[in-house]
Amino acid sequence: MTKMELNWTEPQWDGQADMVVVGYGGAGAVFAFEAARQGADVLILEKGAQGGGNSVCVAGGLIMTSVDEEASFKYMNWLCGGQTDEGVLRHFVSGLKDIPAWQHKLELPLKDNAQPFSAPGFFPEFPGAPGAESIKGMSVVAAPGGAGLWNAISAQAEKAGARVQCNTRVTTLVQHPVTKRILGVAAEHEGKTIAVRARKAVVLASGGFEANDAMCKQFLTACPIYFLGSPNLTGDGIRMAQEAGAQLWHMNAVAGPLNMGIKTKEGYVYVTYDLNKIAGFGYKNGAFKDGGSLLWVNRQAKRFHNETVDTSVVQHGLANRDTWLATTPGTPEFTNVPAFHIFDEKVRAGGAAMTTLNSRVPPWSHDNLKELEEGLIVKADTLEELALKCQWPEIQGVCKAGHLDPAALRETVKRYNEQCRNNVDPDCGRETFLVPLNEEGPYYAIGPMLPTYLNTHGGPKHDAGQRVLDHQDKPIAGLYAIGECGSLWGPYYNSMGDIAEFIVSGVTAAKTVLADSGARESR
Ligand SMILES: Cc1cc2nc3c(=O)[nH]c(=O)nc-3n(C[C@H](O)[C@H](O)[C@H](O)COP(=O)(O)OP(=O)(O)OC[C@H]3O[C@@H](n4cnc5c(N)ncnc54)[C@H](O)[C@@H]3O)c2cc1C
Repeated sequence: MTKMELNWTEPQWDGQADMVVVGYGGAGAVFAFEAARQGADVLILEKGAQGGGNSVCVAGGLIMTSVDEEASFKYMNWLCGGQTDEGVLRHFVSGLKDIPAWQHKLELPLKDNAQPFSAPGFFPEFPGAPGAESIKGMSVVAAPGGAGLWNAISAQAEKAGARVQCNTRVTTLVQHPVTKRILGVAAEHEGKTIAVRARKAVVLASGGFEANDAMCKQFLTACPIYFLGSPNLTGDGIRMAQEAGAQLWHMNAVAGPLNMGIKTKEGYVYVTYDLNKIAGFGYKNGAFKDGGSLLWVNRQAKRFHNETVDTSVVQHGLANRDTWLATTPGTPEFTNVPAFHIFDEKVRAGGAAMTTLNSRVPPWSHDNLKELEEGLIVKADTLEELALKCQWPEIQGVCKAGHLDPAALRETVKRYNEQCRNNVDPDCGRETFLVPLNEEGPYYAIGPMLPTYLNTHGGPKHDAGQRVLDHQDKPIAGLYAIGECGSLWGPYYNSMGDIAEFIVSGVTAAKTVLADSGARESR
């Protein structure tokens, strides 16, 4: 033992609890509910002024579930590309089938269709994969979307006695230098540093690193990109786990891309619609309900993508190398970034041209006029004039500053219109919504657009009980990770699997912490 270790003393604790939870999103709320209702003293420390994180951004109201454990294990194993331990996947799949029953604990009426169902494009998202058909969706509680679900869980957690302290950013794990056990946390609260003791466990529920530009640049293969969720997800829990000796996994895994998007000066991100999803997923007010006189062009003013393709083809994960993530041979440049969304007056008047899946972001206006006034949409009488207004700044590693070439845009639209009239699209294989752009202006453009994603999945590696593992695959005593912070998802992801994971991992961690601490006390 070194002199420094001999001299080490625990900090003066400003507070304590059995379990300290870092982050009050869905995973933190599920854990707190499950542990508190079994009598544990749970304290949740949340960085934001209120809880919710990415979990309240979710606009839809569906959760992944399974009707055949063995088949779903095969599917999950295929999606994770062998990167996730078998025990972890089997435990998750087994937990999926318990979600319908678990929802009853929330004491809210369930939706009529709370039974598992298939939905092409979502359940399953990769239909050719082994076991895919065993993956189903189900509706969440009657309250709307992710916010409704989080409200229901957090209300139950607090009713069960969990304590919540917001505006508290956890900065460091307090770790015994010899045993390596996690004893508590240090946090910033109202300008002061506080130390909080965790008698049984610290649970990292602090989400991913999508709002940390440096980490995105370092770990994700596609950059620059936008994310649609909470600005508080800066990878704090991942860094703290690393400092405590944790092994990381899935650091390049992501949910998305959804499409190409733009970011406003307020930081709101909006994305283009998937034309097929409009019918399938209720975007009936989108700009395409009366036709599809629109196209997407890359910075060479060339079409590069079937604009009607939905995420059943542009799948989550890294499967988009020939579209959003295509590179120019011999250069490190992304060929199709940035891109522009070009449309005519029919589309402008037909409904919102962009959308957000984040329920915390103000909706795009139905007639697009607000965004036109704010400069998020540019307008011109001719395509040549429009091209000059489609400008972008220098993007490091991607391109120099520039604007679309007027002649190239004119040529692309001419070719696209001819293809629409012939009802065949050899360039991008678009089979539906082949509607030509008006011969006369005005024309509109939105951009520069970048590939836009939902969230990251990487973080500390954990075992089937959500214990954080060190580099020898041994648990770091007293440390657990749940939800997006060290998700089990690998290279590919099936929609609605993140909500499923925050439920299963939160329930699991509560059981494990109680079992581990019970075993310790009885020794
Ligand atoms: C727009 C959008 C739509 C989505 N739609 C779906 C969907 O339909 N289905 C699906 O399954 N998934 C969806 N997802 C993904 C899903 O929302 C997330 O993966 C999931 O909610 C993550 O839950 P979590 O509890 O792990 O993290 P979060 O809900 O993000 O919670 C993490 C919390 O930790 C806090 N925190 C961070 N750092 C600290 C710190 N240092 N100290 C204290 N607190 C900290 C944050 O403020 C935050 O409140 C969507 C994501 C987005 C962005």
